[in-house]
Amino acid sequence: MKYILVSGGVISGIGKGVIASSTGLLLKTLGFNVTAIKIDPYMNIDAGTMSPTEHGEVFVLDDGGEADLDLGNYERYLNVTLGRDNNITTGKIYREVIEKERRGDYLGKTVQVIPHVTDAIQDWVERVARIPVDESDQEPDVCIIELGGTVGDIESAPFVEAMRQFQFRVGKDNFALLHVSLVPSINGELKTKPTQASIRDLRGLGLVPDLIACRCPHALPPPVTSKISMFCHVANEQVLAVHDVSSLYHVPLLLKNQGLVGFLQNRLRLDQTAPSESRQ
Ligand code: ADP
Repeated sequence: MKYILVSGGVISGIGKGVIASSTGLLLKTLGFNVTAIKIDPYMNIDAGTMSPTEHGEVFVLDDGGEADLDLGNYERYLNVTLGRDNNITTGKIYREVIEKERRGDYLGKTVQVIPHVTDAIQDWVERVARIPVDESDQEPDVCIIELGGTVGDIESAPFVEAMRQFQFRVGKDNFALLHVSLVPSINGELKTKPTQASIRDLRGLGLVPDLIACRCPHALPPPVTSKISMFCHVANEQVLAVHDVSSLYHVPLLLKNQGLVGFLQNRLRLDQTAPSESRQ
């Protein structure tokens, strides 16, 4: 199983969901069976009781699970059917840990965020990633994990720490990180500082970006890409520009044209993983 974590920095609503779904779609075109997990670091168990004027519409899954609209994006882009467990919230994780504590499963240990909450997050991801999501009824090859919110928030800290540990649990060849950041234009000048600060935060938490996707108003000129590459300590090919587009369905092409597929194939050794079809 290959995992691709999509995190975000600088601001919320930066386009993580669209970039995560597009990445999954591109891997699907290679014949891989792709699933998705959305992490929402809020205390609510699910989005069902949240005000639509504040949170947006609720997306109802086939099994009755009430989730964020992102789950609908994944179903549409990847042509899969997801369940309530494909949406992890802080509320669900804490409920599980507290129920285990009440049953005595921790055998009298002091229950803590590390390791008990972080273990619960990793176990959940590993379990749900293996659930078949389409009519082939096969275990997926790739799981896209979208971490909602912004890296550095108190809310998402246990999830960021869980993912830091997770890269060691599953091994380097099985885990890649795509971080979405913002390159705003101020008086016509593209500014890289928010991205530099965001990558510094990410690295400080123990996560190393394999790809930096920059949301920007228009395509990034080569000097801007080079600057991000130099200050964020990644190669040029690891910096992708995702500019504002008129239709979100252009985003997969934007990513493809910048070499996302080839990069992930190498990074995750996908050439050594047979796409699901050939295993049938
Ligand atoms: P996040 O997951 O970071 O909260 P989303 O993927 O839900 O962000 O996107 C937030 C909003 O931005 C959505 O309304 C989406 O339509 C819009 N959006 C995302 N990417 C682009 C893009 N490249 N061009 C134009 N609009 C975009």
